[in-house]
Amino acid sequence: MPSYKAPVADTLFLLYDVLGFDRHSNLPGFADAGRDTVETILEEGAKLCEKSFQPLNRSGDLQGCVRLANGDVTTPNGFKEAFKAFAEGGWIGLAAGPEYGGQGLPHTVAAAINEYASAANMALAMYAGLTQGAIAALVLHGSDEQKKLYLPKMIEGSWTGTMNLTEPHCGTDLGLIKTKAVPQGDGSYKITGQKIFISAGEHDMTENIVHLVLARIEGAPEGTKGISLFVAPKVLPGADGSLGERNAVSCGALEHKMGIHGNSTCVMNYDGATAWLVGEENRGLAAMFTMMNEARLGVGVQGLAQSDVAYQNAAAYAKDRLQGRSLTGAKEAAKPADPIIVHPDVRRTLLSIKAFNEAARALVLWTAIRGDVAHVSEDPKERQAGEDHMGLMTPIIKGVITDVGFDNAVKAQQMFGGHGYIAEWGMEQFVRDARIAMIYEGANGVQAMDLVGRKLPRDGGRAIMAFFKEVDGFLKDNAETQGSNRSSSR
Ligand SMILES: Cc1cc2nc3c(=O)[nH]c(=O)nc-3n(C[C@H](O)[C@H](O)[C@H](O)COP(=O)(O)OP(=O)(O)OC[C@H]3O[C@@H](n4cnc5c(N)ncnc54)[C@H](O)[C@@H]3O)c2cc1C
Repeated sequence: MPSYKAPVADTLFLLYDVLGFDRHSNLPGFADAGRDTVETILEEGAKLCEKSFQPLNRSGDLQGCVRLANGDVTTPNGFKEAFKAFAEGGWIGLAAGPEYGGQGLPHTVAAAINEYASAANMALAMYAGLTQGAIAALVLHGSDEQKKLYLPKMIEGSWTGTMNLTEPHCGTDLGLIKTKAVPQGDGSYKITGQKIFISAGEHDMTENIVHLVLARIEGAPEGTKGISLFVAPKVLPGADGSLGERNAVSCGALEHKMGIHGNSTCVMNYDGATAWLVGEENRGLAAMFTMMNEARLGVGVQGLAQSDVAYQNAAAYAKDRLQGRSLTGAKEAAKPADPIIVHPDVRRTLLSIKAFNEAARALVLWTAIRGDVAHVSEDPKERQAGEDHMGLMTPIIKGVITDVGFDNAVKAQQMFGGHGYIAEWGMEQFVRDARIAMIYEGANGVQAMDLVGRKLPRDGGRAIMAFFKEVDGFLKDNAETQGSNRSSSR
């Protein structure tokens, strides 16, 4: 059976010895995130992921989600309880504002926990991850009333969130969206249309589901300029959050898919569902981008997470599996053969995965810190530099880490020989689960176009020039170390 140990020591090393996380202690939220506190949080989060999430990873994959005749969806055994424990521990709202019940900690800490949760059980972690994305979109674009109604419930995890963009005829090209919204004259709208591939669209883990839906208001311009964002809860709430009637939105079918079986991927039918506008009319795509950017970083983290859990299991197997003798003579002469980790090709493979994982984690945490600075700094220049960095790195983190993360899961599977292909070792699940991260939240070819077509030339290349300057500065500051490394390696 596969296992997982969250890399808490590696995260702490990167935060404090490499990235200077404590340099930002003057910023709101950071003051409460001293090293001792962060260490305790990471250790507690690690425990929950290792003990509650990971043991359900394989059983959740085997059991999957089931749609009942009435459209309800059941999640695999144990998912509901594990999600409840995650929610009750305050993990969903780790970085959310205290005014709505969140912990107000830096997003960087949440990014580290999300890596552990995704590595332990990607399908289960997605229910919380999508809720965090929906929280971010409502914080930035929701009205005060919407924030007051939805955020506390979502942050405490009694309601989850979804994002409804994709339709049968459009995924990348959202300008083709057909789902319609008709104003009712009382501030509400009726939404009609079909969304497909909606993650966590229906499930049995919480009493309500808050759908954020892209739709076109009657008479709106064609293309992306005529799309608005709506909130359409599964059960219509009163102003005090009490649950009323069931809304006209339902799960028409569950997709049968390659991986993440424990996460419900739903066809969602909107049959005149009651909904309310979030943000401005026809500015829905920009508002949804808040959620998508958050989600793209989260998906990059999924790539790292699957790469790391696959690596951990491959490294353990390589120390245990006896085949052949070391080229330089027997290393464990008393045994019938040496463990395969003595073979150069096995070591090369494992080290290349490990090196990538460490660099990817550094890139994610560095970007998360810059994102936090962009959110809370009082210095407009610092905020802008942080936003530039986030914008530049988002397609890189999403595209590169998920592409290489999948390759690494395959390489780690290879370390098991034929056993890697056999389901009970769990390696083929890591490969299947890692694959989707290259596709959703904008397929990776589209991430490349975003980087080259939009992010590099934006503002006269300001973000990439700042990045080069930072790298140059680092190289100059560390010229001596590089020299000594070079001479010692000769
Ligand atoms: C398991 C799963 C979960 C999902 N969860 C959600 C969810 O929660 N919410 C949601 O809204 N959607 C979700 N999706 C949908 C997902 O985001 C889309 O499948 C994805 O964005 C691609 O859209 P598409 O499938 O329509 O492919 P298409 O848009 O048809 O693209 C097909 C291929 O063509 C390429 N391509 C398209 N346009 C261009 C272009 N202009 N230039 C170059 N190449 C291009 C793409 O990169 C891709 O490789 C999910 C999908 C799956 C499978």
